[in-house]
Amino acid sequence: MIVLKGAEVSAKIKDEVQTMLNRLDGPVPRLAIVRVGKNPDDISYERGATKKLESFGLRVSSHVYPADISDAAFKEAFRTVNEDKDVDGILLLRPLPKQVCEKDIEEMILPEKDLDGISPTNIAKVFAGDTSGFAPCTAEAVIEALKQNQIEITGKRVVIVGRSMVVGKPLSMLMLKENATVTVCHTRTKDLKGTCRGAEILVAAAGRARMLNQEYTGKGAIVVDVGINVDENGTLCGDVDFESIQETAAMATPVPGGIGTVTTAVLAKHLVQAACKNR
Ligand code: NDP
Repeated sequence: MIVLKGAEVSAKIKDEVQTMLNRLDGPVPRLAIVRVGKNPDDISYERGATKKLESFGLRVSSHVYPADISDAAFKEAFRTVNEDKDVDGILLLRPLPKQVCEKDIEEMILPEKDLDGISPTNIAKVFAGDTSGFAPCTAEAVIEALKQNQIEITGKRVVIVGRSMVVGKPLSMLMLKENATVTVCHTRTKDLKGTCRGAEILVAAAGRARMLNQEYTGKGAIVVDVGINVDENGTLCGDVDFESIQETAAMATPVPGGIGTVTTAVLAKHLVQAACKNR
């Protein structure tokens, strides 16, 4: 089984980013990361994204607010970041605390700064197959990982396990745009194993540690593992039982070192695209 390493895909995206940066006038593009509270997953993602973007030569600022901030106070703070001319793109870490209306923020964020595709405008574009907006970075990272490894998507049977608005649903639309034949699975899917075994490209985005083993993978399948989980021993792992699919799958992305790495590279690319378009 060939291991599709995220670092190699990320390096190729870095070259594209560099080419775009060379053509860009004015200040270095700046990402604003907006975080409410101290969720360890958010902090870890923020740290990883900051490191990656800075290594790409980009600027990052963090805007952190207390977990008990009121809805009105957060909206005011968010408005300031949204309207800041020196901010080219925004990454909002979610979910927000209950007292803050997330839907209002999704509607407030300027689509041209919405690098992770959470605004209704960008979501609609993804569903319409219009590439002029920003798709959610993780969903796009799956496509990048396949394309940068010269894996043909057109005409392939693609099975996606997971139907969230962050990964499964937008990815199903991006796959359709690439002319795949797409099946989306979820907790009510009957015969999940059989459906997954029929996939030429299997994407795991269920958030269940090592759930998909060799019984879920057909011979020669290409497996993309989006999951980021911590198992009962505190070890970071994906949704795929990587060891058990060695004999069945032809290729697979590892966790860690797979799609997560590509996701932050896509975020960097979106930031530079935003700067190129909006200045
Ligand atoms: P959600 O919890 O929002 O969605 C999980 C989806 O998987 C749901 O649609 C759910 O079905 C489905 N699912 C859960 N369990 C099963 C099961 N046993 N059988 C079939 N379907 C199942 O998760 P996210 O989409 O936000 O994230 C998915 C994974 O991806 C997580 O591990 C997350 O950490 C990771 N992730 C990784 C990122 C990266 O950069 N690599 C970024 C974002 C997420 P139903 O709708 O029926 O409940």
